[in-house]
Amino acid sequence: MANIIPIDPALSALQAPIVLLRAVRDAMTAPGLDAQTRLDNLARTIATQLSAEVCSVYLTRPGDVLELYASHGLKAGSVHSTRLRVGEGLVGEIAATAHDLNLSDPEKHPKFVYRKETGEEEFHSFLGVPLLSSHKVIGVLVVQSKAARTYSPELVEMLHAVALVVSELAIGNKLVDVFDIAAQQHPSLQSLQFSGKGLASGTAMAPVVLHRPRIEIKELLADDPAEEEKRLIHALVALQQSVDAMISAAGIQEGTEQHDILETYRLFSQDRGWIERITHAIHTGLTAEASVRKVQEEMHARLSQITSSYIQERVHDLEDLSERLLYHLAGIEPTAAHGELPDAFVLVAKNLGPAELLEYDAARIKAVVLEEGSASSHVAIIARMMDVPIVGHIAGISSIVQVGDLAIVQGDDGVVYVRPPEDVIEAVADAIKLKDDRRADFYDKRALEPVMMNGERVSLNLNVGLFIDGTHLEAPDVHGIGLFRTELPYLASSEFPSVEDQTRIYRDAFDKAHGKRVIFRSFDIGGDKQVPYIHTDDEENPAMGWRATRIGLDRPQILLQQFRALIRACNGRDLWVMFPFIAEVAEFDAAKALLLKELEKSDDDGLKLPATLKIGSMIEIPSLLFQLEELMPRVDFVSIGSNDLMQFLFAFDRSSTKLSGRYDVLTGAMVRVVRRITEAAGPHGVEVGFCGDLATRPLEAMVLLACGVRSLSMPPSAIGPVKAMLRTLEPSELAKFLDERCFDGAHSIRERLENFARDHGVVIH
Ligand code: PEP
Ligand code: MG
Repeated sequence: MANIIPIDPALSALQAPIVLLRAVRDAMTAPGLDAQTRLDNLARTIATQLSAEVCSVYLTRPGDVLELYASHGLKAGSVHSTRLRVGEGLVGEIAATAHDLNLSDPEKHPKFVYRKETGEEEFHSFLGVPLLSSHKVIGVLVVQSKAARTYSPELVEMLHAVALVVSELAIGNKLVDVFDIAAQQHPSLQSLQFSGKGLASGTAMAPVVLHRPRIEIKELLADDPAEEEKRLIHALVALQQSVDAMISAAGIQEGTEQHDILETYRLFSQDRGWIERITHAIHTGLTAEASVRKVQEEMHARLSQITSSYIQERVHDLEDLSERLLYHLAGIEPTAAHGELPDAFVLVAKNLGPAELLEYDAARIKAVVLEEGSASSHVAIIARMMDVPIVGHIAGISSIVQVGDLAIVQGDDGVVYVRPPEDVIEAVADAIKLKDDRRADFYDKRALEPVMMNGERVSLNLNVGLFIDGTHLEAPDVHGIGLFRTELPYLASSEFPSVEDQTRIYRDAFDKAHGKRVIFRSFDIGGDKQVPYIHTDDEENPAMGWRATRIGLDRPQILLQQFRALIRACNGRDLWVMFPFIAEVAEFDAAKALLLKELEKSDDDGLKLPATLKIGSMIEIPSLLFQLEELMPRVDFVSIGSNDLMQFLFAFDRSSTKLSGRYDVLTGAMVRVVRRITEAAGPHGVEVGFCGDLATRPLEAMVLLACGVRSLSMPPSAIGPVKAMLRTLEPSELAKFLDERCFDGAHSIRERLENFARDHGVVIH
């Protein structure tokens, strides 16, 4: 058996790691040095402290290459010139597998490759450990000695602690870029494919950013292990209490599968092996935080290559618990505090509220992946307005993926690839190009009139609320803005916007519209669009609670201020205003009275009044369907909000993950409702618009046109496909088809409609 290289016998087992880490810290924190010099010093210090002749640091470079970045002991000329591919040689093998190699005769290892420029032939022992960060191998740390011996387990453990410090130094000084590394195809990391539910269509490819990011650890080394152990114990107690609280709050019955899962999770939070490993790392001189991270990285590296789903579940548990423990150690609530974000990314989260989505720069966010979510939730609507694909219903994804993993999100079929294989990348890149070409094609056809086969024109409008892109509004086939969701700009704000702020935002919309119509919807705050400055209390059913015009009528000042801002911004142009969430005609009257009152006041104040004022109501609460006779004579126009109307008609919560997809609103019931509205509006000359998400999809929009709707409002990306559909539609033919084929109680008439479209040459894709 080969000899074992011990730790310096002059040091006791407990002291040695601390002495080593202190020396490492001194090398790291010496003032006025650049990162390369620090790394050089670090290599020398490690070699000296471990009585090894060589210490080398390899870092991962783009292209799956490991570069010798610093070395004490190998020939100086080899630094920055020796490069190995991941999987090549001993260093490449460590990077590919994320496992240590501790060898007494390295040259006998089948993976050994000899690099002349390094002069390593004189060294006969080799210990290499991976440098890990965010579960990625970012490099390899190697020590070598002349004697042919293996290194002791204590020394291996110490080198792991040092590896954590070296990794942080490399990341902190931007010597490696985790996003870059993840974008490479990494043989050690399995590619994964998930099937969820497409909530907003489109395809995107970009590295992953987690909505709840991993905590950044600032202090790695501690002087007082006893103190760190105390901190760990406190945090563990807090963690276990919070897990207990979470389990009892979930109110899950004993004996059920969910209960068993949570119990396993609870037991894992008390796992002695896990806690001992962390404690052990603290004794090597790391802070409690660094110790938790070190154990997390190592266990992940060790377990993630085992494909058993049971083990994978435990890896998720460990991930989750480690992150929670770090939050407890830091004494902070999980927040969305990120470091610098890449220029393009896929956001991964358990779930997101609309305000949370708005925290991110719209230009950089390319797709969203959620564990929960539903198609008509506001986060999905906002994503569609931003033209950002979303896939929801992918359980556990936020703990499976890592920051920087390359992800492909296919919103149309609900598929997500993480670390996709090369052929998938190529196919998706082609699909993205095809889509861009289609978009370009629609763009080229924007001068074609939105006119149906029977010669009738359809008014195509945009749904906006954020990021009004003037170029979309300039398109000749766009009539104007059919729905300006005025509450959206304020969701991320901490106080109610002043009249001046509001005026600026609305004026911008008027200016960008260049005389085209803009329909402003007064604010629809509440429901799942909660803002911190209006307290709605904790309602059992916020979607049916104190929201929108209900708040406006109870707090008229807020509504009056909004009207004032609209009148000012309008400044003598045409003003179109509609009220959301009207349940009874009396509410419409009351809101209208407030608007007229503000108009009078503006007149008294000498403001320029709107040239024309059109006042409308949204139809999104079923009770209004039974007051159409009273409503129509009072309104200038109505707009159907199918997202809410359908959730109340079918009594399915639009944010419910479980119910998403349960009902297909393409049924006889929907046809009757829309017809009822257009038929009631006709005699009064009231324009019926449709601004709910149903208008976005060509097949659904086709039915709306056959039911008599002539004004549709949708996100910019839907205009091209919907126009292509209506230009090939003869609405009276479909109306006849609906009479004959949709009132038989079927769960869905989708397939029949697809057949109709195919048989009649209506373009629905
Ligand atoms: C609707 O309910 O269809 C609608 C357009 O309003 P929102 O989605 O903003 O609730
Ligand atoms: Mg609504």
